[in-house]
Amino acid sequence: MEDCLFCKIINGEIPSTKLYEDDMVYVFEDIAPEAPVHFLIVPKKHIKDADELEVEDQELLGHIFLVAQKLCKEKNLKTGYRIVNNCKEDGGQTVDHLHFHVLGGRSLQWPPG
Ligand code: 5GP
Ligand code: ZN
Repeated sequence: MEDCLFCKIINGEIPSTKLYEDDMVYVFEDIAPEAPVHFLIVPKKHIKDADELEVEDQELLGHIFLVAQKLCKEKNLKTGYRIVNNCKEDGGQTVDHLHFHVLGGRSLQWPPG
């Protein structure tokens, strides 16, 4: 997708601190971390948001959660972490390419504002 920030990060046009990559996802550090651990898991396929997901994306979604688990184990987040997806304007989404935040390394508050 032209003019998509995360597509440009995935293809290397815009630099990022990569944590992991495979054929389905690209994972990198968030530029403005909200916790000691804050990275983004992004599908390589350009999907605008969670509202656009289709049946064919089910395997991708399961894969994303297993990648999150693997990286959180590597980061030794034994006491927990949070996986967040913001969907559209009211959900707080600012980049229109589906992504999952993974936050950890501190006790996180709930509910969100
Ligand atoms: P959203 O608000 O859409 O759920 O999350 C977008 C996230 O992308 C934000 O947490 C923001 O800090 C991060 N972000 C925005 N631009 C960049 C960038 O150029 N590089 C990186 N690494 N993260 C970015
Ligand atoms: Zn994109």
